[in-house]
Amino acid sequence: MSLERVRAELAEYSKRILRQGLATGAGGNISAREGPAMLISPSGFSLEEVKPEEYVAVDIATGAIEPGTPRPSSEVLMHLACYRRRPDIRALIHTHPQYTIALTSSGHDLKPMFADFVIYLGYDIPHVDYVTVTTPELACAVEAVVGEANCVILRNHGAITLGENLKQAFWRACTVEEGARIQLLAATAGAPRFLSREEAGRLTALSSEQYRQQLLARMRTTS
Ligand SMILES: [Zn+2]
Repeated sequence: MSLERVRAELAEYSKRILRQGLATGAGGNISAREGPAMLISPSGFSLEEVKPEEYVAVDIATGAIEPGTPRPSSEVLMHLACYRRRPDIRALIHTHPQYTIALTSSGHDLKPMFADFVIYLGYDIPHVDYVTVTTPELACAVEAVVGEANCVILRNHGAITLGENLKQAFWRACTVEEGARIQLLAATAGAPRFLSREEAGRLTALSSEQYRQQLLARMRTTS
């Protein structure tokens, strides 16, 4: 994919994050791997305002930033830590989703209640207890749990979703918030019934299952 296309996609998914209500104001940030660098949203902008040329190239190995470019997102260390730990991922979205923050900052973990949740996010979602935002300590805490996870919950803060491309990371971000909303609604209606590990295992093990294959194929399409 050309660099121009990556920048255009970043701008497009940045707008979608705001439109979807997954962040407000200057909250949230987004990045994509491009060769040895990542392109990340600049600091201090609402994601819907960022122009394709304003995403900042940061060298993943060294953290070096090209002189004369805008300042990268204040969560740049967290993005770098994830790309270093996970050579398989090419996109990362960090959101501040309302239902997710409400649920996971009230003594609950986000847990699977429906099939798409398991297919997109997996069964065990790592939860990181509150660490001051933007700090190296937060980057370390995320790095410690992001080994095989497609998403990490940051209590009293938000969520991170990873993907092979921006579309995958974005769909996962939407699924996190959908899961939290359903779990909260279920808790107000009665006692939520979560999928068992065995039920989730059957979903992920059914390699011939058309539903699962179709969903995963749609996520892998880059746009
Ligand atoms: Zn944040």
